[in-house]
Amino acid sequence: MLLIACPHCGPRAQEEFSYERTTDSVVTTEAAPDAAMTALFTRENPRGVAEEIWRHTYGCRGWMVFRRDRISHAISDIRPLGPEPLA
Ligand SMILES: [Zn+2]
Repeated sequence: MLLIACPHCGPRAQEEFSYERTTDSVVTTEAAPDAAMTALFTRENPRGVAEEIWRHTYGCRGWMVFRRDRISHAISDIRPLGPEPLA
């Protein structure tokens, strides 16, 4: 079983987490429609390390950024994203 170190809860089972998207595909509400479409649907999917947004769905429900290798799946860094999760 793979354990992931939630910055709020500590080590938890991988099954408690949900993948959202890569950080470079986040689109703000102020983005122009063409730029938003490009960021959402024509982005790169390179091998190697990427920053991804994940959520501890079945835990604290907090959002976080994983620095994860897409080949080995090794996670080298996890940091909280946004405010502290609700208790
Ligand atoms: Zn958590």
